Amino acid sequence: MTEPTIPADATPMMAQYLAIKHAHPDCLLFYRMGDFYELFFDDAVKAAAALDIALTKRGKHLGEDIAMCGVPVRSYEAYLSRLVRAGYKVAIGEQTEDPAEAKKRGAKSVVSRDVVRVITAGTLTEDNLLDARSHNYLAALAEAGGGLGLAWVDVSTGDFAMQPLVPPLLSAALARLDPGELLVPERLLNQPDLLEAWSEWKTILTPLPSVRFDSENSRRRLEALYGVGALDAFGAFGRAELAAGGALVDYIELTQKGKLPRLNPPQRLAQGAVMEIDGATRRNLELAETLTGERKGSLLATIDRTVTGAGARLLAAHLAAPLTDPAAIDRRLDAVAFFVEHEDVREAVRAALKRCPDIERALSRLSLGRGGPRDLAAIRDALAEIPSLRGLIARPALDAPPPAIAQATQGLGEHSTLVDILTRALAEELPLLARDGGFIRPEFHAGLDELKSLKAEGNAHLMRLERRYAEETGIQALKIRHNNIIGHHIEVPAKQADKLDENFIHRQTMANAARYTTTELIELAGKLTGAADRALAMEQHLFSQLVGEVTGRAHDIAGAAASLAALDVAAALAELASAENWARPVVDDSHAFVIDGGRHPVVEAALRAVNHSAFVANDCDLSAGNRLWLITGPNMAGKSTFLRQNAVIAILAQMGAFVPARAARIGVVDRLFSRVGAADDLARGRSTFMVEMVETAAILNQSGPRALVILDEIGRGTATFDGLSIAWSVVEHLHEVNRCRALFATHYHELTSLSGRLKDLSCRQMRVKEWQGDVVFLHEVAQGAADRSYGIHVGRLAGLPPAVVARAEEVLSALEKGEQGSAVAKLADDLPLFAALAKPKPKESVAAEPSPLAEKLKEINPDELSPRQALDLLYDLKRLL
Ligand code: ADP
Repeated sequence: MTEPTIPADATPMMAQYLAIKHAHPDCLLFYRMGDFYELFFDDAVKAAAALDIALTKRGKHLGEDIAMCGVPVRSYEAYLSRLVRAGYKVAIGEQTEDPAEAKKRGAKSVVSRDVVRVITAGTLTEDNLLDARSHNYLAALAEAGGGLGLAWVDVSTGDFAMQPLVPPLLSAALARLDPGELLVPERLLNQPDLLEAWSEWKTILTPLPSVRFDSENSRRRLEALYGVGALDAFGAFGRAELAAGGALVDYIELTQKGKLPRLNPPQRLAQGAVMEIDGATRRNLELAETLTGERKGSLLATIDRTVTGAGARLLAAHLAAPLTDPAAIDRRLDAVAFFVEHEDVREAVRAALKRCPDIERALSRLSLGRGGPRDLAAIRDALAEIPSLRGLIARPALDAPPPAIAQATQGLGEHSTLVDILTRALAEELPLLARDGGFIRPEFHAGLDELKSLKAEGNAHLMRLERRYAEETGIQALKIRHNNIIGHHIEVPAKQADKLDENFIHRQTMANAARYTTTELIELAGKLTGAADRALAMEQHLFSQLVGEVTGRAHDIAGAAASLAALDVAAALAELASAENWARPVVDDSHAFVIDGGRHPVVEAALRAVNHSAFVANDCDLSAGNRLWLITGPNMAGKSTFLRQNAVIAILAQMGAFVPARAARIGVVDRLFSRVGAADDLARGRSTFMVEMVETAAILNQSGPRALVILDEIGRGTATFDGLSIAWSVVEHLHEVNRCRALFATHYHELTSLSGRLKDLSCRQMRVKEWQGDVVFLHEVAQGAADRSYGIHVGRLAGLPPAVVARAEEVLSALEKGEQGSAVAKLADDLPLFAALAKPKPKESVAAEPSPLAEKLKEINPDELSPRQALDLLYDLKRLL
């Protein structure tokens, strides 16, 4: 690193500041000044803007004012979290010596300071900077030997994993993890086949010099970290994966200034082990958040019945990464089934789990030297639940639990000695920080008790002394007090100070009081502070011993934490299945997709909450001979809901959950695609139609025979014939080339004629009932094709003027009767002005002359309008009225 240029006339403090800042150019530097962290220069300008706090000045540098802002140390975390969320990295520059020490070196010398930690979005550990119910991953991508490797770690829990990758799968993998920060070697930033991913994830990228991603160094670093000669025991990691994993560890050490949290042994996610779901599909299906970015209303929020933070994180991870191995899926389903069958056990287990604090995060903080007494208590309380939890599951009256439950029960481990120590050691009420002491229970440590009683005795002694002095001097108001500047002293009202003899040594005169000391008091106070200091030091020592007890058993505690989370997820999914009447799916290696009475859990919950109406269950069968369903029906009839519910059922089944259906049999889905009404992607300058075509292209290029594809209204964003032609050829391609299972909803009724030609294509319609001139949506999927689209009906519901509705019906029937081309010509010729408008039925008075409205209507060719354009046009027409 180059030497910083520090001007000769810089104050010593400024010189120190500049040197530290020079070493952390990409961070905002929080420079500790007493009770504040202060920021200077550009850092101050950026932070003041991001935090909306006052920007001031402090002194001059090179003749210019120095911009400055500050945040109080007491409440800095709230500011920190806003800066990190805004994409900044923050370096915490602390005082590393007592200011008294610095003074000893000379009046002008500055307290030494150093950066103790760099806080980045991917390396947070504090509970109030993190969401208790989601993981916060730090990820790294590396390239070696022609392949890519992705590694990710949750610093706050120790989860660590790696996977091999190919460029087209990068975006989907990142969408699955949704990391807070992604480390990439600088040289990959310009690699053409990765540009797409970079533009999508640009806000979380941290580019680093490519040398940090050296696979050989990384391997050695990881072997040293785990104290093994070879990493093979953990999995057959490729070079690129190791390079990414090593870069992660390197970065954590760098930001934590040499400290490493406890990391679980790395897991390997083999290629194809999870269902690939790209970002667009995740968004469309609203898996973890809704289209508007909220958690509430997402599939995850709807199914989450977990009672612990770790359980919620595991559930989210399972939902994000459904499995593809039927045996592994069955293992999870067995665990859920166990808790479905044994309701009493489930309830008792959930009650016990509710009492378990988040030990994963407590353990991580303790292992980073950043934990406090409450983290120790969290570990004590969770581990204390284990014996009763184990007893609940291993009750002799129960059948042997399935392997996943048995394994989790075993993984809970045996921690009675540690629980016992912590129970005896920790006081009832605990401070957040160990710094000020006061957290060790009396009678835990005789030495500490003795120091504390000396302190108490000393205090009693002081009180006796105070009384004696008051009597001897006759000053009733005499008090012995303490402050941080002059320590213990005797205070008397100023007016009575002359009553004191020469034994009282003057210290200070205040407005109304005078302060003194005596040799007796100095001696006693010395003993007292000595005892207090020693008591505090002793407590600190005991604290680090207790932390040592915990970190020494970190492996077992992490095992317990993982087991608690696994039990929570299984019991929560069972709770959901029982409460909502869900069924255990059959997942196998076939190509079946048979859903009997399927429902959409989120829509169902919404209907129930809003108008207490019931969701209409629908079957779906995409097994051989029926692979592709073409679904027609009017808008609002329930097409999208049906499409999405089947995708959601596949995801739930493969994550190992029961499903919202009477029964389901699913041959493993390896990739899931959905294209459902995209919003304009203005950030990337693409129109809706372009986005639609890009996503459709991805589907057609990537779907294999095990894919499940959901396509809603392809071709809608362009002119009718264009759209129809594209939709037509997409159906043919899916049927002939991709040969995957697919649901295709369309408003192009013409497509239904393909069913005669494509043998695996089957037509379905959303049933509607006409009743007294009105249309009722039944939300039922039935055989066959819809014969009408009821667009005019929807127009009426939307409040189109009756004249327009009546005229539209006339136009429609003319078009339906006639040859399209000639009918249009005839309509345009014969009807310069709507007869409908002149009809007496619609009561509104309408001008009898040619109007702009009629002119406008003449220009229209309904066949060339997309529904969206038609709606826009209707608004235009209405304005002309
Ligand atoms: P489309 O895609 O055909 O325009 P949607 O799937 O968006 O229709 O459904 C429109 C509305 O109809 C939904 O918001 C929901 O309230 C209701 N709906 C859809 N499917 C069902 C169902 N199976 N049972 C009950 N109501 C449903």
